[in-house]
Amino acid sequence: MDQAEQLQQMIDSAKRIVAFTGAGISTESGIPDFRSPGGIWTRYKPIYFDDFMSSDEMRREAWRRKFATDETMLKAEPNAGHRALAKLVEQGRMSAIITQNVDGLHQRSGVPDSKVIELHGNSTYATCLDCGHRHELDPIRRAFLGSGKLPLCVKCEGIVKTATISFGQAMPEIQMARAQDETMACDLFIVLGSSLVVYPAAGFPRIAKR
Ligand code: ZN
Repeated sequence: MDQAEQLQQMIDSAKRIVAFTGAGISTESGIPDFRSPGGIWTRYKPIYFDDFMSSDEMRREAWRRKFATDETMLKAEPNAGHRALAKLVEQGRMSAIITQNVDGLHQRSGVPDSKVIELHGNSTYATCLDCGHRHELDPIRRAFLGSGKLPLCVKCEGIVKTATISFGQAMPEIQMARAQDETMACDLFIVLGSSLVVYPAAGFPRIAKR
């Protein structure tokens, strides 16, 4: 039996599967692994959350970078890996997809929001840091590229930021707790495209095995 058949057998005999995905599943969709050489992290000095909060200039820089690199994200389509997972979710065999990715491709492949646990947030929309209200990127892009206007919340005038988790920003508690619950409840845990080096995310396979 080859490895693919072995995996198929494990999937067939599992009752509750959880997938854990990292950058590697999206490289085939044209999204570069931002930790790899030439990736975003090696070209730009990261903007820490506290700096984003305290400085207009840093916020402006963050949005400038966002819209300069956004095209790759907008053009990306889900690939066979995303679709295979979506099928398992649809069949009711996979209870959740825990992901380190911020590209939204699991949802785009047909997986409902409620089944995707995004540990590092999502870069395809923005949220108000005060009230959590969701803001779409299109109007923000138009205003920012047009007149350099920084986005403020339409509801509470709070600071609006892409819905990703920045350096120095706390991991999202609800998502972490959900990821842990799903991991403990599954009988098959599949890791795809993650080198599992970043904690706390890297601890999940161990929790599953235990
Ligand atoms: Zn708000």
